[in-house]
Amino acid sequence: MLRIMLLGCPGAGKGTQSEYISQHYAIPKIATGDMLRAAVAAETSLGLQAKEYMDNGQLVPDDVIIGMVKERISQADCQQGFLFDGFPRTLAQAQALIDADIKLDYVIEIAVESQEIVKRLTGRRVHPASGRVYHVDFNPPKVADQDDNTGEPLIQRDDDTDATVLKRLKVYDEQTKPLIIFYQQLVAEDKNLAPVYQRIDGAMSVAAVREAISTILG
Ligand code: ADP
Ligand code: ADP
Repeated sequence: MLRIMLLGCPGAGKGTQSEYISQHYAIPKIATGDMLRAAVAAETSLGLQAKEYMDNGQLVPDDVIIGMVKERISQADCQQGFLFDGFPRTLAQAQALIDADIKLDYVIEIAVESQEIVKRLTGRRVHPASGRVYHVDFNPPKVADQDDNTGEPLIQRDDDTDATVLKRLKVYDEQTKPLIIFYQQLVAEDKNLAPVYQRIDGAMSVAAVREAISTILG
C-alpha cells in the first residue's frame, strides 16, 4: 500500500513529478484539477458548478471535492494506493480524510518561492487528455506545441494568466499552506494516521526533484 500526497503551491511541479511517480510505483494519479477540467469540458453538472470558481482562481467548495475524491478512491485501481496531486487543499479536506480513516503514507512538500511561479505558469503548456505538463523554456516538448507521446496539440490553461496566477498564490497562502503545519503536527504528536513528512527544494531541476522523491520513497 502506497498513498502519497504532493503538497505545494500552483506551479511547484506537482503535475510534472506525479507523472513519473505514478508510472514508477504503479499507482494511479488523482489530480483533482485534471478531474475538474475534464468535467468542465464534458459540461457535466459538476463541471458547470466548478467552472466559475476555477476561472476566478478560487477553490471549488470542499463538499464537492471531498465527494469526488471519495468516489474515485473507492475504485478498484486505488486499492494498492494512489497519488494525490492538488488534494487535500484545505484543512477541511485534510480532516475529511482523517474522519474517513484514510491514511496517507507520505506527504511530500515541493517548495518553490512565489517569484518563480509566474514564469513557470505563464509558460506552462498541457496535454489535456493525459495531464502531461510542459514548459516552453524549462521543459519543452520535442516538437513545439505537440505532446511527446501522442503528437496531439498542447494547450495553455485559461487560468494560467498573470492576474489569475497571483490570485491562486494568495488562495494557496491562505487556505492550503496551513496544511504544512497540520501534517507536521500530526507527525509530532505521533497520531495514528500521521504520514511521513518530507520537504524538497522545488527550485532544483525537474530531474533533481525527481531524484529527491525517489530517495524518499525508496
Ligand atoms: P503544479 O502541478 O504544481 O501546478 P506543474 O508540474 O504543472 O506544477 O509545473 C508548472 C510549470 O513549471 C510547468 O510548465 C512545468 O513544466 C514547469 N516546471 C515543473 N517543474 C519544474 C522545475 N523543477 N524547474 C523548472 N520548471 C519546472
Ligand atoms: P495548479 O496545480 O496549477 O494549482 P490545479 O490543476 O491543481 O492547478 O487546480 C486548478 C483549479 O481547480 C484550482 O484553482 C481550483 O479552482 C480547482 N481545484 C483543484 N483541486 C482542488 C481542491 N482540492 N479543492 C478545491 N479546488 C480545487
